[in-house]
Amino acid sequence: MPNFSFPTPNSPSVIASKRQTILRTLLEMDPGFAKTPVKSIYRATLQKMYDLYDDLFFNGTLHRYYIRMDVTMSSRLLKSAGKFLHYQTGLRARTAEIRMSSDFLFRLGEGPFELNGLRVATPQLAFMIVFEHELCHAIENAFYGNTGHSDRFMYFAYGVFGHTKSTHDLPTRSSETTEKTGITVGSMVSFPYEGRMIAGTVSYLGKTARVMVPSPNGTYYERDNPNHRYMKYQVPISLLTLVN
Ligand SMILES: [Zn+2]
Repeated sequence: MPNFSFPTPNSPSVIASKRQTILRTLLEMDPGFAKTPVKSIYRATLQKMYDLYDDLFFNGTLHRYYIRMDVTMSSRLLKSAGKFLHYQTGLRARTAEIRMSSDFLFRLGEGPFELNGLRVATPQLAFMIVFEHELCHAIENAFYGNTGHSDRFMYFAYGVFGHTKSTHDLPTRSSETTEKTGITVGSMVSFPYEGRMIAGTVSYLGKTARVMVPSPNGTYYERDNPNHRYMKYQVPISLLTLVN
């Protein structure tokens, strides 16, 4: 391991107190972020969160390495709560982005939530723990030029933030739909289309469902079975009926 310019491992009480300092600052500056569920979040709040984390946990290492770090919110990030994006080569390797999913954040009510092996009570803290995970990708990338979920990554995640895992139990769109309707990927469903009901199999659940309906004129087929053809439909969840 290279000689890091910031303390690790941190004791649980040091981590908790620094995290609280950051949380307090963000809640004070952003009334939308302070609501439960979170209603909105300023761009300045995201940048402040990055600045404070770098300052308090990494002694400014991220600011020294990255010429530019954009912290953004995306409503199209559905499968993960956050994402670290970076360029592989050249000067641009020192510009990066942490993209946070508003789709996850803005749906969270009261906790508790379990994230990265920690249990937290509020959606704001859940958001910050997701952000911490992405920061660990940023710091690992700064030192090694790549990042994943290896032991080396966990060394940062555990040492700096006390994370023991890299998974979370936040409800995804698909798990919410399954809870409410019983529909999962693979379920047989029917839905109205041009005045009649048609039936097919759910192949993806997000904000809408993708349903594969058998049809001789379909353009989708399995590689090993080109005789079974399907048409693909994008259907609002509310129109689906589970077929037993
Ligand atoms: Zn990750």
